[in-house]
Amino acid sequence: MHGPSNMSSGRPRLEFRGVTKRFANPRQGGFVVAVENVSLSIADGEVVSLIGPSGCGKSTLLNMGSGLDPVTSGEVHVDGELVSKPNRHVAFMLQKDLLLPWRTIVENVELGQEIQGVTSAERRRRALDLLAKCRLTDFVDHYPHQLSGGMRQRAALARTLAVDPSVLLMDEPFSALDAQTKMVLQQDLGRTLADTAKTALFITHDLVEAVALSDRILVMSQRPGTIITEIAVDIPDRDNPMRRRQHPKVGGFVVQLMNLLQIEQAAA
Ligand code: ADP
Ligand code: MG
Repeated sequence: MHGPSNMSSGRPRLEFRGVTKRFANPRQGGFVVAVENVSLSIADGEVVSLIGPSGCGKSTLLNMGSGLDPVTSGEVHVDGELVSKPNRHVAFMLQKDLLLPWRTIVENVELGQEIQGVTSAERRRRALDLLAKCRLTDFVDHYPHQLSGGMRQRAALARTLAVDPSVLLMDEPFSALDAQTKMVLQQDLGRTLADTAKTALFITHDLVEAVALSDRILVMSQRPGTIITEIAVDIPDRDNPMRRRQHPKVGGFVVQLMNLLQIEQAAA
């Protein structure tokens, strides 16, 4: 949609350069360092997950990526452009689907394009195409309350993709779903990201989900959050998380991540 920046320039889709975030902490009169000196770079078409202990600054990092929350120092770039406010090149998907209850599913998916001024025929065509990819063709004229939680989250994914963002940011998109629904959604997301060749950064606390869905996993430390390491997930079939889960390497990655997060020590 925004041509020249789209492919193979070698330029990262999303880049953090030495990003720090401090929040004022009025109670103690000081400040909290939520994120400290984070640099990262995500290439076109890459799917990257971000894991780390609760409160380490993952959401803060993503919020800065979306432009919703300003950085204290450092820079965030999308397609080489400085991010300083919310913009249409970055799409954000949350745990809560945020569908508008008074609009049908297809109308919800069209919303972002409506704001962009896309013609009604074109936005309907795009919305129906994405809803088909998200297996919701039979529900396009339903209202959100008529759908299950998993279906609503699939509709939210279609809506996120409909604006053709350069980067998708997802903050624990599946953590409110039951285990089986979640697996189905992971499959939908994996396939849809591959089909649309989208670039994504998502937060999860589910280590198997991180391994099943991503090319790379960034591991954050306790607050102040910094990226302590990154792991390349060299398992085939990134477009098929269900098959990937069954790969013999998955267990080894999970153990490695548990060790990095010091989960056993935390449990002792
Ligand atoms: P995570 O998503 O990894 O659980 P967050 O990014 O939500 O962590 O929070 C990181 C730290 O920053 C926490 O200590 C949190 O209390 C603090 N924090 C987050 N948002 C704010 C805010 N708006 N004002 C003050 N402190 C905040
Ligand atoms: Mg969070």
